[in-house]
Amino acid sequence: MKVAILGAGMSGLAAGVVLERHGFVPDIYEQNSFISDHYSHIGVLFNMAYRGTTKQPLKYIKKTTSVEISPLEKITELIIHSNSYHVTITNEIIGYSFIHGQEPISLGNQLLGHIKKSKFLALLAMMNVHASYRERP
Ligand SMILES: Cc1cc2nc3c(=O)[nH]c(=O)nc-3n(C[C@H](O)[C@H](O)[C@H](O)COP(=O)(O)OP(=O)(O)OC[C@H]3O[C@@H](n4cnc5c(N)ncnc54)[C@H](O)[C@@H]3O)c2cc1C
Repeated sequence: MKVAILGAGMSGLAAGVVLERHGFVPDIYEQNSFISDHYSHIGVLFNMAYRGTTKQPLKYIKKTTSVEISPLEKITELIIHSNSYHVTITNEIIGYSFIHGQEPISLGNQLLGHIKKSKFLALLAMMNVHASYRERP
């Protein structure tokens, strides 16, 4: 079966990793000449966003995909200011921070590192392609 993934953002890269783990080698099309975000910034992943599935998203990702993601830092304190209240939440792990950008340790580059070498070359070769699900080769 041939699989095409449109976009090498977090979803496309994660889908690529998981598909490869299941024996598929998808074609990943990306319209930009780079993967992940162009500019560096910090993103966060709060454990509370994952209630219902798991309170430990990184462990869940490792268990279900065998992919180990390294965060920049553990978040242990969250301070919320508003006009009506001021709350400080502390816990052993509230969530994690990540770098998004072109750095080797960015989340996108970590996912890219889990895509096999042959796929990585094909991915670069196919950059700058604006793909549409309506087009057929
Ligand atoms: C300002 C801001 C702050 C955020 N902060 C956080 C945060 O702190 N924590 C968090 O978890 N989430 C955060 N998010 C949300 C997070 O960035 C998105 O949920 C995530 O990036 C979505 O990933 P994606 O792969 O679905 O889409 P994207 O990251 O948008 O990737 C889509 C990719 O597809 C490519 N593409 C699109 N169309 C085509 C086409 N036709 N052909 C080829 N390529 C194509 C694009 O170039 C892009 O690379 C934030 C979002 C914004 C805007």
